[in-house]
Amino acid sequence: LGYAEAFRRESQIDSSLEKVSVPGPLEVLAHLRPVEKAQAQLRQAIAIVNHEVQLLAAAGACEVQLDIPYIAVYSVVGQLSPTQAVDLIAQSLAGVKVTKTIHCCLGDLGSKPAIPVHNLNALMPFVKQLAGIVDKVHLECSHPGQWADRACLRDVPKELEVIAGVVDVKTPVETTDEIADHIREVLRFVEPERLWIAPSCGFGRRTTDIAIGKLSRMVEAARRF
Ligand SMILES: [Zn+2]
Repeated sequence: LGYAEAFRRESQIDSSLEKVSVPGPLEVLAHLRPVEKAQAQLRQAIAIVNHEVQLLAAAGACEVQLDIPYIAVYSVVGQLSPTQAVDLIAQSLAGVKVTKTIHCCLGDLGSKPAIPVHNLNALMPFVKQLAGIVDKVHLECSHPGQWADRACLRDVPKELEVIAGVVDVKTPVETTDEIADHIREVLRFVEPERLWIAPSCGFGRRTTDIAIGKLSRMVEAARRF
């Protein structure tokens, strides 16, 4: 997929680079047409992703994050069972000795999520089964429906660290106080030792000013705790 090659190149520029994101198998296939033929390639896509993760581990990456918006979206709309979701994640990351992370979001289609229903609850049936399969789970919790479900963060298995995506990449820059309020609220459900704070998704479709503005305020807010 080219991520390991990019990691080797970027590591030469900055040797402190530790974490790399790669797309999951459904994401690799998402833009291929016709859809039926693409879906028939799922086994091969899993093998390709797993091979890439192995290459990243061999290249010295400490943490690999599987970006899986399609698993999140299909879980929310009921098109993927918890068992299927767990299998896709487990097989993609099988046999790799790095810190394993997943990122669950509902995508970013021009500042809009891919589906109109936004909840966190629908992800919990598979997230609850991820102990021993991943080490960290990043959950987007910035859409109102997701935020309303924030108490289910307490259902993430205790073996896992939680990365709470409370800084919304799709809105104007929040105030530091607003972000701090979100962190305080999330701390009601996740112990501070297990909690990371993050943006809800990637900043690839935002301006540099918005990305830097939000990340700076996020760091300021996190330092209050
Ligand atoms: Zn995302």
